[in-house]
Amino acid sequence: MSQSKIEWTEKTWNPTTGCSKISPGCANCYAETLSNRLKAMGVEKYKNGFELTIHHEEIEKPYRWTKPSMIFVNSMSDLFHEDIPFRVIKKVFEVMNKCDWHVFQVLTKREGRLLELNKRLNWSPNIWMGVSVEDESRKYRIDFLRKTDSYVKFISFEPLLEPIQNLNLQNINWVIVGGESGAKARPIKKRWVMEILDQCRKLDIKFFFKQWGGINKKKNGRELNGKIFNEFPPYNNGQIDLF
Ligand code: SF4
Repeated sequence: MSQSKIEWTEKTWNPTTGCSKISPGCANCYAETLSNRLKAMGVEKYKNGFELTIHHEEIEKPYRWTKPSMIFVNSMSDLFHEDIPFRVIKKVFEVMNKCDWHVFQVLTKREGRLLELNKRLNWSPNIWMGVSVEDESRKYRIDFLRKTDSYVKFISFEPLLEPIQNLNLQNINWVIVGGESGAKARPIKKRWVMEILDQCRKLDIKFFFKQWGGINKKKNGRELNGKIFNEFPPYNNGQIDLF
């Protein structure tokens, strides 16, 4: 499984699977539900369910994808999870550095470990680094991200759980916003989304509205004020025009 239905990427690459909950955004973790379902279906890769598992045989997979793609790294895990040894993270970075025809999107809720390892990692321009921010008290993750040496920095406000105001978006290149989906989805308000959009517009930051979410996410769609917001940081065939 590598083609992705996630609107802001093309493929997923999961050299590790499994994770553990760390903040309110994790409460209805989709990766957990899917991992358990795949385990029940007897899929070998998910025999450990949502337990952190390293798949050494998958680490070199992007070399075999010759078509330039946007690749979401660890949609089923968190690359900066405390149980992933540094040597594995380093190896994943080496693959990303060498596969310069792809863009790699890494998203974490472990901003502390990200910053701690920052100087020991090689940041090539095709690595987009992001943090998740689901509520006001998780805004500090953006400050950690800003201190890293990644060329492209992004924030995923998903699932957006409350209004988040007075954001410091200096040196941030891309913002994704989305509501939670699934049976236990927590509600999102249009006003919260518009407030983030306004803050992005002031600094000319690319904005991607992923979904309203809810129990029937297809029906609720992803239009905001009659428009689809599908903006990305500039890139061309995997080569990014640096700003
Ligand atoms: S960090 Fe991500 S993958 Fe890990 S439990 Fe939270 S939502 Fe799930």
